[in-house]
Amino acid sequence: MIVFLYILAIILAWMIGTVSFSFVNVIAYRFPKQKKILKEHFKCDSCEMQLKPYETIPVFSYIFLKGRCRYCGEKLSVRDFVNEIAGGIIALLVFFRFGDVDDLSSAFILSSPIDIVVHFDIWKLLTLLTIFVFFCILDLVFLVDMDTMEIPNRFIIVMLYVAVVALLVVSGVSLIDHIIGALCISIPMLLIMYAIPGAFGGGDVKLSAAAGLIMGWQLTIIGFIIGLFAAGIYGIILLIRKKKGKKDHFAFGPFLCTGYMIATICGMDIIDAYMKFAAYIHG
Ligand SMILES: [Zn+2]
Repeated sequence: MIVFLYILAIILAWMIGTVSFSFVNVIAYRFPKQKKILKEHFKCDSCEMQLKPYETIPVFSYIFLKGRCRYCGEKLSVRDFVNEIAGGIIALLVFFRFGDVDDLSSAFILSSPIDIVVHFDIWKLLTLLTIFVFFCILDLVFLVDMDTMEIPNRFIIVMLYVAVVALLVVSGVSLIDHIIGALCISIPMLLIMYAIPGAFGGGDVKLSAAAGLIMGWQLTIIGFIIGLFAAGIYGIILLIRKKKGKKDHFAFGPFLCTGYMIATICGMDIIDAYMKFAAYIHG
């Protein structure tokens, strides 16, 4: 019974993840073009044919349709497909990292529905949802910054709303840690931005402030280091392949978003591993 409920929870998390990131794909495509986001969700972007429900299932429709629209034969977006899979995996990671899996199974063994309601921890569910919404916005910033080299202010404002919810909902949060989180990366970035024009964009600074408010300073610093490291490797690869000159720019936002996601999921494990490593080195 427990195994069955476990599988059910995993399938549910996967579905929520893929559907949410599929919707993020739609917003990322339509928002910069100032198209209406909620209208005409289920149409082919190329031939505008109305899609049947089974042609809109994230991940599986792409596989089932072999990557092409059934009506006009136009290739479906590989990036959208990959992003949907990423959404499923991220939802599962959030579920296993922040959902109290033992609690979940014990809640299900309780006999009566009233028992389940009494034992159900609404705060844990809200924590889970808040973190997942944060990840959806990071994913949206990732895609839009990649396409347009800009991070719209509206995304940052939504992230600030999520930060307020996170401060209220997530337990064991010290307000000071999170306020320092908002400043510890954004202020140095701001100074570097003025000292070396073009080093960062204003959007990267605002993103780091809003994400830092949600994550607290430890995770924000780790996330930034991961992002910087990844962007550095990417820059070197571009230089080697001579696709860009030394003065050309690429969007830093996608690397920051990736770093902040990784840090939120496993930043504390990285700190622990580093501490153990440091202790080992010092004997
Ligand atoms: Zn089509």
